[in-house]
Amino acid sequence: MASLTLDRLGKTYPGGFTAVHGISLDVPDGAFCVLVGPSGCGKSTVLRMIAGLETVSAGDIRIGARVVNQVEPAARDIAMVFQNYALYPHMRVYDNMAYGLRNRGTPKAEIETRVREAGRMLGLDALLDRYPRQLSGGQRQRVAMGRAIVRKPQVFLFDEPLSNLDAKLRVQMRVEIRRLQRQLGVTTVYVTHDQVEAMTMADVLVVMNGGRIEQVGTPLDIYRRPASRYVATFIGAPPMNILPAEVAEGGVQVGGRWLPADTGGLAPGATVEAGLRPEALHVAPDGIPFRVAFVEELGATRLLHGRLGEADLVVQVPAGTAPAEGDTIGLAPEPGAIHLFDAGSGQRLG
Ligand code: ATP
Repeated sequence: MASLTLDRLGKTYPGGFTAVHGISLDVPDGAFCVLVGPSGCGKSTVLRMIAGLETVSAGDIRIGARVVNQVEPAARDIAMVFQNYALYPHMRVYDNMAYGLRNRGTPKAEIETRVREAGRMLGLDALLDRYPRQLSGGQRQRVAMGRAIVRKPQVFLFDEPLSNLDAKLRVQMRVEIRRLQRQLGVTTVYVTHDQVEAMTMADVLVVMNGGRIEQVGTPLDIYRRPASRYVATFIGAPPMNILPAEVAEGGVQVGGRWLPADTGGLAPGATVEAGLRPEALHVAPDGIPFRVAFVEELGATRLLHGRLGEADLVVQVPAGTAPAEGDTIGLAPEPGAIHLFDAGSGQRLG
C-alpha cells in the first residue's frame, strides 16, 4: 500500500492551453479521494497524468516515496476503471479479468485464485463464462472493477465509473465500490462531476475549478465551511442560496432584517453576499417575510421556491409543513447558519 502525492502538478497541452495549474495534494495511504468539479475543470487530466496516459508538464507525482513522472503506465502499479468499462467484447468475463495478469506472466494457478476470489467479492461467480454482451450495465461495471482488483495495485483510479448506469444502480454501486475499497484498503482517486457521489464517497474531497483546487477537506468540513461561493453553491443539494447583504454592527442586513454573522472585520455598510442553505431556514411567524411562489414535493421534504428582494430563494422544510403556493410565511435561519462571501472575489469572509 502507498500514499499518493501531487506536488505542484501542472499540465499544458500542445497548443498552449494550460488545463492544470500547479496543484498539490496528499492522499494518505488507504484513503478514498474524490476529485469533483464541472466539465472542463481538469479532473480527468489529473487522473490521466497519475495513470501515465498523459505527460506531466510541471511538478511531480509520487506513489509512496517514488516519483513516477517518467515511469511507464504498466510499471506504476496502478489500476484504472474507465467510464466505458473498456472490456474486451470477444473475451469471456474470466479472461477479461485474467488478461492483465497473463500479460505480466503471473503463474496460471495464481491467476485462477485471484480471478475466482475477485469474482466472489463482486458476486460474479456465476457469470465468469459469459461474454460482456450477455451482461447488464451493472455487471459489466463489476467486471471492470474485478479486472482492477485482481492486479492488487497500490492505487485505484476511477474515471466517472457510474455515469453510464441508471440512477438506482448508481446509488447501489457507489455503496458497493466504497465497501470494496475499505475492505481492500487500496489508496483511491475517483473522478466525478456528481456532487452527491463526491459527498457520499470521499474521505478526502477535492473541489476543482478551472484547473485549480478550490478546496480540500472532508465532505462535512466542506459542507459546513465552504471556502468560496463557488464551493458553497457546488457542494450541497439543493444548492446554497446566495443573497445580497450589507454589513451591519455584529452581523448583516438581509432582506430588510438584521441577522448575526461573523463579518470578518469588514466595516458596516460594506456590500457582501450572504449564503443560506435551504435546509438551514425555518418557518417562524416573526421571521423575514417570504412569499411562496412554487412548491416542489419530494416526499420526505418540500422545497419552497420564491424570491427575497432581488434574489431567488429556496427553502427546504419537512413534509407536512403547511405553506401552500401563494402563502406568505416568515423565515428564520438557524443560528450560525449564515456564510458570508466577498462580493467581488467570492472568497469566504469570517
Ligand atoms: P469532463 O468531466 O468533461 O471530462 P474534466 O474536468 O475531466 O471534464 P479535462 O478532460 O481534464 O476536464 O479537460 C480540462 C481542459 O483541458 C478542458 O478545457 C479541455 O478542453 C482541455 N483538454 C483536454 N484534453 C486536451 C488535449 N488533448 N488538448 C488540448 N486541450 C485539452
